[in-house]
Amino acid sequence: MATSAESNFLKTPQAEAPQLLDGFGRVINYARVSLTDRCNFRCLYCMPQGGRPFIPHERILHHEEMLRLCARMAELGISSYKITGGEPLCRKDAAIFIKQLIALPGVREVSLTTNGSLIAPQLEDLAAHGLKSVTFSLDAMTPEALRRVTRSDTPPGEILASMDLAAALGLRVKINTVLLKGLNDAELVPLTRYALERGWHIRFIELMPVGEGKQFAGIAPEEVFRNIEAQFGQLSPVSRKTGNGPAVMYSLESYPGLVGFIAALSGRFCASCNRVRLVSTGFLKTCLCHEAGIDLRGPLREGASDAKLTQIIRDAVSQKPQGHVFSFDKAKADVAGFNMNSVGG
Ligand code: SAM
Ligand code: SF4
Repeated sequence: MATSAESNFLKTPQAEAPQLLDGFGRVINYARVSLTDRCNFRCLYCMPQGGRPFIPHERILHHEEMLRLCARMAELGISSYKITGGEPLCRKDAAIFIKQLIALPGVREVSLTTNGSLIAPQLEDLAAHGLKSVTFSLDAMTPEALRRVTRSDTPPGEILASMDLAAALGLRVKINTVLLKGLNDAELVPLTRYALERGWHIRFIELMPVGEGKQFAGIAPEEVFRNIEAQFGQLSPVSRKTGNGPAVMYSLESYPGLVGFIAALSGRFCASCNRVRLVSTGFLKTCLCHEAGIDLRGPLREGASDAKLTQIIRDAVSQKPQGHVFSFDKAKADVAGFNMNSVGG
Protein backbone atom coordinates (compact mmCIF):
# COMPACT_ATOMS: atom_id res chain seq x y z
CA MET A 1 0.00 0.00 0.00
CA ALA A 2 1.30 3.52 -0.84
CA THR A 3 2.23 5.61 2.21
CA SER A 4 0.13 8.73 2.72
CA ALA A 5 3.24 10.94 2.42
CA GLU A 6 3.64 9.89 -1.22
CA SER A 7 -0.04 9.62 -2.10
CA ASN A 8 -1.68 11.77 -4.75
CA PHE A 9 -5.09 11.21 -3.15
CA LEU A 10 -7.37 14.22 -3.89
CA LYS A 11 -4.50 16.16 -5.50
CA THR A 12 -5.46 18.10 -8.62
CA PRO A 13 -2.83 18.72 -11.31
CA GLN A 14 -0.91 21.90 -10.55
CA ALA A 15 -1.10 24.38 -13.43
CA GLU A 16 2.41 25.44 -14.44
CA ALA A 17 2.87 29.15 -13.72
CA PRO A 18 3.24 30.87 -17.11
CA GLN A 19 6.58 32.48 -17.88
CA LEU A 20 6.91 35.60 -20.01
CA LEU A 21 10.28 36.01 -21.70
CA ASP A 22 11.58 39.01 -23.61
CA GLY A 23 13.75 38.86 -26.73
CA PHE A 24 16.91 38.53 -24.62
CA GLY A 25 15.61 35.60 -22.55
CA ARG A 26 14.91 37.70 -19.45
CA VAL A 27 11.91 36.60 -17.39
CA ILE A 28 9.43 39.48 -17.10
CA ASN A 29 7.39 38.96 -13.95
CA TYR A 30 7.10 42.42 -12.40
CA ALA A 31 5.12 45.53 -13.35
CA ARG A 32 5.09 49.00 -11.91
CA VAL A 33 1.64 50.51 -12.38
CA SER A 34 1.42 54.29 -12.25
CA LEU A 35 -2.09 55.37 -11.22
CA THR A 36 -1.69 59.11 -11.75
CA ASP A 37 0.81 61.85 -12.57
CA ARG A 38 -0.69 64.10 -9.86
CA CYS A 39 1.12 64.60 -6.57
CA ASN A 40 0.71 66.68 -3.41
CA PHE A 41 4.51 66.99 -3.04
CA ARG A 42 6.95 68.83 -5.28
CA CYS A 43 10.20 66.98 -4.68
CA LEU A 44 13.01 69.07 -6.14
CA TYR A 45 14.32 66.27 -8.37
CA CYS A 46 10.92 65.13 -9.61
CA MET A 47 8.45 67.97 -10.17
CA PRO A 48 8.72 71.73 -10.75
CA GLN A 49 7.38 74.00 -7.99
CA GLY A 50 4.36 75.00 -10.09
CA GLY A 51 3.70 71.44 -11.22
CA ARG A 52 3.62 70.67 -14.91
CA PRO A 53 0.63 70.33 -17.19
CA PHE A 54 -1.13 67.24 -15.93
CA ILE A 55 -2.39 64.50 -18.20
CA PRO A 56 -6.05 65.30 -19.04
CA HIS A 57 -8.49 63.03 -17.23
CA GLU A 58 -9.93 61.54 -20.42
CA ARG A 59 -6.49 60.16 -21.31
CA ILE A 60 -6.11 58.45 -17.94
CA LEU A 61 -7.42 54.92 -17.65
CA HIS A 62 -10.39 54.20 -15.39
CA HIS A 63 -9.51 51.73 -12.71
CA GLU A 64 -11.57 49.02 -14.44
CA GLU A 65 -9.53 49.55 -17.63
CA MET A 66 -6.29 49.40 -15.68
CA LEU A 67 -7.47 46.24 -13.99
CA ARG A 68 -8.32 44.59 -17.31
CA LEU A 69 -4.79 45.25 -18.57
CA CYS A 70 -3.28 43.92 -15.33
CA ALA A 71 -5.40 40.77 -15.70
CA ARG A 72 -3.90 40.20 -19.15
CA MET A 73 -0.38 40.77 -17.81
CA ALA A 74 -1.03 38.40 -14.91
CA GLU A 75 -2.20 35.69 -17.33
CA LEU A 76 1.09 36.06 -19.15
CA GLY A 77 3.12 35.54 -15.97
CA ILE A 78 3.55 39.03 -14.54
CA SER A 79 2.77 38.17 -10.94
CA SER A 80 4.24 41.05 -8.85
CA TYR A 81 2.94 44.60 -8.97
CA LYS A 82 4.15 47.88 -7.51
CA ILE A 83 1.59 50.68 -7.41
CA THR A 84 3.16 54.06 -8.02
CA GLY A 85 2.45 57.55 -9.40
CA GLY A 86 2.70 60.64 -9.00
CA GLU A 87 1.36 60.03 -5.56
CA PRO A 88 -0.86 56.99 -6.10
CA LEU A 89 -3.06 57.85 -3.12
CA CYS A 90 -3.99 61.19 -4.71
CA ARG A 91 -6.29 59.07 -6.82
CA LYS A 92 -9.59 58.53 -5.01
CA ASP A 93 -10.12 55.01 -6.34
CA ALA A 94 -6.56 53.87 -5.55
CA ALA A 95 -7.57 51.61 -2.66
CA ILE A 96 -10.40 50.00 -4.66
CA PHE A 97 -8.00 49.31 -7.52
CA ILE A 98 -5.32 47.88 -5.22
CA LYS A 99 -7.77 45.53 -3.51
CA GLN A 100 -9.16 44.29 -6.85
CA LEU A 101 -5.67 43.83 -8.24
CA ILE A 102 -4.67 41.72 -5.23
CA ALA A 103 -7.66 39.46 -5.93
CA LEU A 104 -6.83 38.84 -9.63
CA PRO A 105 -5.84 35.28 -10.59
CA GLY A 106 -2.10 35.06 -11.19
CA VAL A 107 -1.26 38.03 -8.97
CA ARG A 108 1.11 36.90 -6.23
CA GLU A 109 2.21 40.14 -4.63
CA VAL A 110 1.13 43.78 -4.65
CA SER A 111 3.06 46.57 -2.97
CA LEU A 112 2.84 50.32 -2.98
CA THR A 113 5.30 53.18 -3.16
CA THR A 114 4.17 56.43 -1.58
CA ASN A 115 5.35 59.69 -0.09
CA GLY A 116 3.52 58.56 3.05
CA SER A 117 1.43 61.69 3.54
CA LEU A 118 -2.01 60.29 2.67
CA ILE A 119 -1.74 56.63 3.59
CA ALA A 120 -2.62 56.54 7.31
CA PRO A 121 -6.44 56.28 6.98
CA GLN A 122 -6.13 53.54 4.31
CA LEU A 123 -3.49 51.30 5.89
CA GLU A 124 -5.68 49.02 7.94
CA ASP A 125 -8.07 48.30 5.07
CA LEU A 126 -5.24 47.68 2.59
CA ALA A 127 -3.42 45.36 4.98
CA ALA A 128 -6.64 43.43 5.63
CA HIS A 129 -7.04 42.93 1.87
CA GLY A 130 -3.56 41.50 1.37
CA LEU A 131 -1.21 44.40 0.67
CA LYS A 132 2.19 42.99 1.59
CA SER A 133 4.64 45.82 1.55
CA VAL A 134 4.86 49.61 1.48
CA THR A 135 7.85 51.60 0.31
CA PHE A 136 7.95 55.07 1.82
CA SER A 137 9.95 57.61 -0.14
CA LEU A 138 11.46 59.65 2.66
CA ASP A 139 14.40 61.97 2.10
CA ALA A 140 14.66 63.55 5.55
CA MET A 141 13.58 63.23 9.17
CA THR A 142 13.99 66.83 10.19
CA PRO A 143 11.10 69.17 9.24
CA GLU A 144 13.34 71.80 7.57
CA ALA A 145 15.17 69.30 5.39
CA LEU A 146 11.98 67.49 4.41
CA ARG A 147 10.33 70.79 3.51
CA ARG A 148 13.41 71.83 1.53
CA VAL A 149 13.37 68.68 -0.61
CA THR A 150 9.63 68.00 -0.94
CA ARG A 151 8.34 71.61 -0.75
CA SER A 152 5.53 70.19 1.37
CA ASP A 153 4.60 71.10 4.95
CA THR A 154 3.83 67.51 5.87
CA PRO A 155 5.58 66.93 9.21
CA PRO A 156 8.03 64.02 9.01
CA GLY A 157 6.53 62.75 12.30
CA GLU A 158 3.27 61.97 10.47
CA ILE A 159 5.08 59.90 7.85
CA LEU A 160 7.13 58.10 10.51
CA ALA A 161 3.91 57.32 12.41
CA SER A 162 2.41 55.79 9.25
CA MET A 163 5.53 53.70 8.81
CA ASP A 164 5.20 52.41 12.38
CA LEU A 165 1.51 51.70 11.83
CA ALA A 166 2.27 49.78 8.62
CA ALA A 167 4.84 47.67 10.46
CA ALA A 168 2.43 47.06 13.35
CA LEU A 169 -0.12 45.80 10.80
CA GLY A 170 2.40 43.25 9.58
CA LEU A 171 3.40 45.01 6.35
CA ARG A 172 7.02 45.03 5.21
CA VAL A 173 8.28 48.60 5.44
CA LYS A 174 10.99 49.92 3.18
CA ILE A 175 12.41 53.41 2.90
CA ASN A 176 13.67 54.86 -0.37
CA THR A 177 15.90 57.89 -0.10
CA VAL A 178 17.42 60.18 -2.71
CA LEU A 179 20.34 62.21 -1.37
CA LEU A 180 21.12 65.62 -2.84
CA LYS A 181 24.44 67.29 -2.19
CA GLY A 182 24.10 70.13 0.33
CA LEU A 183 20.33 69.70 0.67
CA ASN A 184 19.67 66.53 2.65
CA ASP A 185 22.98 64.66 2.80
CA ALA A 186 23.08 65.30 6.58
CA GLU A 187 19.99 63.07 6.86
CA LEU A 188 21.88 59.96 5.77
CA VAL A 189 22.87 58.80 9.25
CA PRO A 190 19.60 59.47 11.17
CA LEU A 191 17.46 57.94 8.42
CA THR A 192 19.68 54.89 8.20
CA ARG A 193 19.67 54.43 11.97
CA TYR A 194 15.90 54.77 12.14
CA ALA A 195 15.38 52.04 9.54
CA LEU A 196 18.11 49.70 10.78
CA GLU A 197 16.97 49.76 14.39
CA ARG A 198 13.46 48.76 13.33
CA GLY A 199 14.61 45.94 11.08
CA TRP A 200 13.48 47.71 7.90
CA HIS A 201 15.20 48.09 4.56
CA ILE A 202 16.55 51.49 3.56
CA ARG A 203 17.57 51.86 -0.06
CA PHE A 204 19.50 54.78 -1.48
CA ILE A 205 18.38 55.66 -4.99
CA GLU A 206 21.04 57.22 -7.15
CA LEU A 207 19.76 60.55 -8.48
CA MET A 208 18.76 60.09 -12.13
CA PRO A 209 19.49 62.98 -14.49
CA VAL A 210 15.92 63.06 -15.76
CA GLY A 211 13.73 66.18 -15.92
CA GLU A 212 14.15 68.16 -12.68
CA GLY A 213 16.82 65.72 -11.53
CA LYS A 214 19.30 67.25 -13.99
CA GLN A 215 19.53 70.43 -11.92
CA PHE A 216 20.96 68.76 -8.81
CA ALA A 217 24.03 66.88 -7.74
CA GLY A 218 23.41 63.55 -6.07
CA ILE A 219 25.80 61.65 -3.83
CA ALA A 220 27.70 58.80 -5.47
CA PRO A 221 26.60 55.37 -4.17
CA GLU A 222 30.21 54.56 -3.19
CA GLU A 223 30.30 57.65 -0.98
CA VAL A 224 27.02 56.70 0.72
CA PHE A 225 28.40 53.18 1.21
CA ARG A 226 31.60 54.50 2.83
CA ASN A 227 29.68 56.87 5.11
CA ILE A 228 27.41 54.08 6.32
CA GLU A 229 30.33 51.77 7.01
CA ALA A 230 32.12 54.54 8.92
CA GLN A 231 29.07 55.03 11.12
CA PHE A 232 27.51 51.58 11.45
CA GLY A 233 30.25 49.03 10.68
CA GLN A 234 31.04 46.73 7.79
CA LEU A 235 28.35 46.14 5.15
CA SER A 236 28.13 42.51 4.02
CA PRO A 237 26.41 41.58 0.75
CA VAL A 238 23.12 39.72 1.15
CA SER A 239 22.78 36.87 -1.33
CA ARG A 240 19.16 35.86 -0.66
CA LYS A 241 16.41 37.57 -2.68
CA THR A 242 15.03 40.50 -0.67
CA GLY A 243 12.67 42.11 -3.19
CA ASN A 244 11.64 42.29 -6.83
CA GLY A 245 13.87 45.14 -7.83
CA PRO A 246 17.43 45.96 -8.73
CA ALA A 247 18.53 47.01 -5.22
CA VAL A 248 21.85 45.52 -4.11
CA MET A 249 21.37 44.76 -0.43
CA TYR A 250 23.78 44.62 2.54
CA SER A 251 23.47 43.58 6.16
CA LEU A 252 25.27 44.84 9.27
CA GLU A 253 26.31 42.80 12.27
CA SER A 254 24.68 44.92 14.93
CA TYR A 255 21.34 45.81 13.32
CA PRO A 256 18.33 43.82 12.12
CA GLY A 257 17.64 46.04 9.10
CA LEU A 258 19.28 46.05 5.67
CA VAL A 259 20.84 48.78 3.53
CA GLY A 260 20.42 48.80 -0.23
CA PHE A 261 21.60 50.72 -3.25
CA ILE A 262 19.60 51.32 -6.42
CA ALA A 263 22.16 52.60 -8.85
CA ALA A 264 20.59 52.82 -12.30
CA LEU A 265 23.59 54.62 -13.75
CA SER A 266 26.64 53.35 -11.88
CA GLY A 267 25.18 49.88 -11.37
CA ARG A 268 23.61 49.37 -14.80
CA PHE A 269 21.46 46.38 -13.93
CA CYS A 270 19.71 45.97 -17.31
CA ALA A 271 20.94 42.39 -17.82
CA SER A 272 18.75 41.21 -14.95
CA CYS A 273 15.79 43.52 -15.63
CA ASN A 274 12.48 41.77 -14.93
CA ARG A 275 10.01 44.60 -15.33
CA VAL A 276 7.64 46.66 -17.43
CA ARG A 277 5.76 49.83 -16.53
CA LEU A 278 2.11 50.55 -17.14
CA VAL A 279 1.59 54.30 -17.22
CA SER A 280 -1.78 55.79 -16.19
CA THR A 281 -2.45 56.68 -19.86
CA GLY A 282 -2.31 53.00 -20.81
CA PHE A 283 1.16 53.19 -22.33
CA LEU A 284 3.14 50.04 -21.62
CA LYS A 285 6.72 51.21 -21.17
CA THR A 286 9.15 48.36 -21.54
CA CYS A 287 12.24 50.24 -20.28
CA LEU A 288 12.39 53.21 -17.88
CA CYS A 289 14.76 55.31 -19.94
CA HIS A 290 13.94 54.34 -23.50
CA GLU A 291 11.15 55.30 -25.86
CA ALA A 292 10.17 51.65 -26.41
CA GLY A 293 6.67 50.50 -25.56
CA ILE A 294 3.12 50.41 -26.86
CA ASP A 295 -0.14 52.24 -26.32
CA LEU A 296 -2.79 49.91 -24.90
CA ARG A 297 -5.49 52.53 -24.32
CA GLY A 298 -6.31 52.85 -28.03
CA PRO A 299 -6.99 49.14 -28.63
CA LEU A 300 -8.69 48.85 -25.23
CA ARG A 301 -11.16 51.66 -25.97
CA GLU A 302 -11.67 50.49 -29.56
CA GLY A 303 -13.02 47.19 -28.27
CA ALA A 304 -10.02 44.84 -28.54
CA SER A 305 -10.69 41.37 -27.17
CA ASP A 306 -8.75 40.04 -24.19
CA ALA A 307 -6.83 37.76 -26.55
CA LYS A 308 -5.84 40.72 -28.73
CA LEU A 309 -4.67 42.75 -25.72
CA THR A 310 -2.65 39.78 -24.49
CA GLN A 311 -1.00 39.49 -27.90
CA ILE A 312 -0.13 43.21 -28.00
CA ILE A 313 1.46 42.97 -24.55
CA ARG A 314 3.40 39.84 -25.47
CA ASP A 315 4.70 41.50 -28.67
CA ALA A 316 5.77 44.65 -26.80
CA VAL A 317 7.65 42.59 -24.22
CA SER A 318 9.41 40.66 -26.98
CA GLN A 319 10.71 44.04 -28.24
CA LYS A 320 11.94 45.18 -24.81
CA PRO A 321 15.28 46.94 -25.36
CA GLN A 322 18.47 45.36 -24.09
CA GLY A 323 19.31 48.36 -21.93
CA HIS A 324 18.44 51.90 -20.96
CA VAL A 325 19.90 55.00 -22.56
CA PHE A 326 20.60 56.88 -19.32
CA SER A 327 23.78 58.85 -19.44
CA PHE A 328 25.91 60.66 -16.89
CA ASP A 329 26.09 63.35 -19.55
CA LYS A 330 23.15 65.57 -18.55
CA ALA A 331 22.82 66.92 -22.08
CA LYS A 332 22.10 63.43 -23.37
CA ALA A 333 20.07 62.26 -20.42
CA ASP A 334 16.64 63.11 -21.81
CA VAL A 335 16.82 61.27 -25.11
CA ALA A 336 13.94 59.13 -23.97
CA GLY A 337 12.21 62.23 -22.52
CA PHE A 338 9.90 61.28 -19.69
CA ASN A 339 8.90 62.63 -16.32
CA MET A 340 9.31 60.58 -13.18
CA ASN A 341 5.93 61.70 -11.83
CA SER A 342 4.10 60.24 -14.82
CA VAL A 343 6.06 57.01 -15.14
CA GLY A 344 6.47 56.37 -11.42
CA GLY A 345 10.15 55.53 -11.06
N1 SAM B 1 5.08 59.54 -5.06
C1 SAM B 1 5.52 58.22 -4.82
C2 SAM B 1 6.84 58.20 -4.09
O1 SAM B 1 7.45 59.26 -3.99
O2 SAM B 1 7.23 57.12 -3.66
C3 SAM B 1 5.65 57.36 -6.06
C4 SAM B 1 6.21 58.00 -7.31
S1 SAM B 1 7.89 58.55 -7.23
C5 SAM B 1 8.12 59.15 -8.88
C6 SAM B 1 8.78 57.02 -7.17
C7 SAM B 1 10.22 57.13 -6.78
O3 SAM B 1 10.92 57.83 -7.79
C8 SAM B 1 10.49 57.85 -5.47
O4 SAM B 1 11.18 57.00 -4.59
C9 SAM B 1 11.35 59.02 -5.89
O5 SAM B 1 12.31 59.32 -4.91
C10 SAM B 1 11.98 58.52 -7.16
N2 SAM B 1 12.47 59.57 -8.05
C11 SAM B 1 11.78 60.59 -8.61
N3 SAM B 1 12.59 61.34 -9.39
C12 SAM B 1 13.82 60.80 -9.31
C13 SAM B 1 15.09 61.11 -9.89
N4 SAM B 1 15.27 62.14 -10.72
N5 SAM B 1 16.14 60.31 -9.59
C14 SAM B 1 15.99 59.24 -8.77
N6 SAM B 1 14.82 58.89 -8.21
C15 SAM B 1 13.75 59.65 -8.46
FE1 SF4 C 1 5.55 63.32 -5.75
FE2 SF4 C 1 6.90 61.01 -5.48
FE3 SF4 C 1 7.64 62.88 -7.30
FE4 SF4 C 1 8.00 63.41 -4.74
S1 SF4 C 1 8.99 61.74 -5.88
S2 SF4 C 1 7.10 64.81 -6.29
S3 SF4 C 1 6.28 62.41 -3.82
S4 SF4 C 1 5.78 61.72 -7.31
